[in-house]
Amino acid sequence: MIERLDLKKLNVEFDIIENELILSKKISVSILRLDKIHTEISGNKFFKLYYFLEQAIQTKKKVITFGGAFSNHLTATASACKNYGIKCIGVVRGEEPKKLSHTLLFCIEQGMQLEFISREKYNRKNEEYFQIDLTAKFGDHILIPEGGYSKDGVTGAALISNFYQQKKLDYICCSIATSTTLAGLINSSPFHYQKFLGFSAIKSYPDFKNRIQYILEKPLDKNVTLFEEYHFGGYAKKTHELLLFMNQFYEAFAVPTDFVYTGKMMFGVFDLINKNYFPRESRILCIHTGGLQGNLSLPTNSLNF
Ligand SMILES: *Cc1c(COP(=O)(O)O)cnc(C)c1O
Repeated sequence: MIERLDLKKLNVEFDIIENELILSKKISVSILRLDKIHTEISGNKFFKLYYFLEQAIQTKKKVITFGGAFSNHLTATASACKNYGIKCIGVVRGEEPKKLSHTLLFCIEQGMQLEFISREKYNRKNEEYFQIDLTAKFGDHILIPEGGYSKDGVTGAALISNFYQQKKLDYICCSIATSTTLAGLINSSPFHYQKFLGFSAIKSYPDFKNRIQYILEKPLDKNVTLFEEYHFGGYAKKTHELLLFMNQFYEAFAVPTDFVYTGKMMFGVFDLINKNYFPRESRILCIHTGGLQGNLSLPTNSLNF
């Protein structure tokens, strides 16, 4: 158990990765291994949850949040709440299936109470009456928006930068869905030379900049670029090429990736390196945002790790 919310107790590792391609381009590439910070609480989700958890500990309230059947956000919430002795309820999109996903079984194991609701109702979860219903049913609670997309989520994600801010870095690469994590990283950077590259895990992201500005509550004052072409068919979709890349990546660097987020980001980063996107001497950091539990939904033997 991590004592309270002490970030100094987390295990933070950087991997410097090198191969012929990287050396030939005269760039440096490192990976911030948020997937390894703790045996159970891993990835960017823990940071997005940070201030919500702190509030729950202080007020002794329970936590309610939302997600789908394979949600990294639900597993992260469930294990963090178990660690800190917080009661939690996961509202799950869709009727209860006969066979629960490994993700939901894990959440139950961690002590999360699951509440299944229809997709139609789920889509209306931000409406006021829905929240009144939740309070009527579960009592006083702290509500964490889906994916942590909120001001508090951004402030929590900004904590990630404590682990690399002392290094000189030109590019910060991050996989994005709600963009909460990337927004936090952007907001915490004091360096105007730093460039932020977001690799979309979803098919198209037309409102990308607006979403970030909305949540930061200010115009973007940093160099931010969105890459939309590395989704491999869309959210949580995969191809043989992606899985092959993830296996080769693991073989070369001993870094496991997940097929929904980090595998696609690393594929994108390598594609950009190949295309000479990064000038010589560039120092590139890739954020490993975790999410490895998602790979359990792949057929066995798809991956070599
Ligand atoms: C949720 C998730 C993301 C996306 O984070 P956002 O803050 O929603 O953009 C990226 N990587 C992993 C592994 C995730 O689980």
